Amino acid sequence: MARVALVTGGTRGIGAAIAKRFKEDGHTVVVCDVVQDQIDKFSAETGIAGYSIDVSDYNSVKAGVEKIEQEVGPIDILVNNAGITRDGRMVKMTREKNWDPVIAVNLTSAFNTCNIIAGGMADRKWGRIIQISSMNGQRAQFGQSNYSATKAGIIGFNRSIAAELARNGVTCNVICPGFILTEMTAAMPKEILDGEVKKIPCGRIGEPEDIAKAASFLASEDAAWITGETISVNGGQHMP
Ligand code: NAP
Repeated sequence: MARVALVTGGTRGIGAAIAKRFKEDGHTVVVCDVVQDQIDKFSAETGIAGYSIDVSDYNSVKAGVEKIEQEVGPIDILVNNAGITRDGRMVKMTREKNWDPVIAVNLTSAFNTCNIIAGGMADRKWGRIIQISSMNGQRAQFGQSNYSATKAGIIGFNRSIAAELARNGVTCNVICPGFILTEMTAAMPKEILDGEVKKIPCGRIGEPEDIAKAASFLASEDAAWITGETISVNGGQHMP
């Protein structure tokens, strides 16, 4: 059945792949992002509507969701994908540069979107919430204490809201990607990325579409009895 889906940070990388896959699945898809030019370019290329929403800002999410629901319809599927990194050794980090922005974009954003959208899903007795966490929320990663804290935090947040929303037909699940070829990983030093790819048992870096396939399943009717789950999609690199 066709649903209305919102993918945050959906104009590039993993989010764009999920948005395109949902469109192929027959859903009405919208994405949000912060850079208007990027949104316009993505919409022109894909025919997928885009909205300017800063997911770290509660009022921006509220206004954006109201606009989407008026123009497109109530949101049935929410993918919390937007995320940033501000890497460094913990003792060298500052609140302003490394900690506060990463907590706001990667973790507080999930409260903002779920708090505003999940109530409507519960009232309509159907919903799918998919959180994009990370393998580095499941294991140690040198230089990413801020990022790891948010990605582990999302898993805990998700389990609790899954328990609260299950009775109303809303499932909440987490995908933990391993290394996926996007602008985020392209920004890593080449020797570090090459070293990580050598550790992947499946023998290759992931494609954004590998994550989109998992999201497509979790958003489907067939996944109705899966909730509170954390699925690793990492080529076997980490088996928690
Ligand atoms: P990406 O290419 O850097 O894309 C991230 C997207 O999020 C961009 O479209 C970005 O928009 C958007 N965004 C950033 N801040 C935002 C905000 N405040 N409000 C709304 N949108 C915002 O990243 P990616 O590699 O596709 O990663 C997507 C998700 O997967 C992230 O949560 C990331 O942590 C997770 N992940 C990625 C990997 C990987 O290997 N790539 C592995 C594990 C987990 P702008 O263009 O405006 O910045």
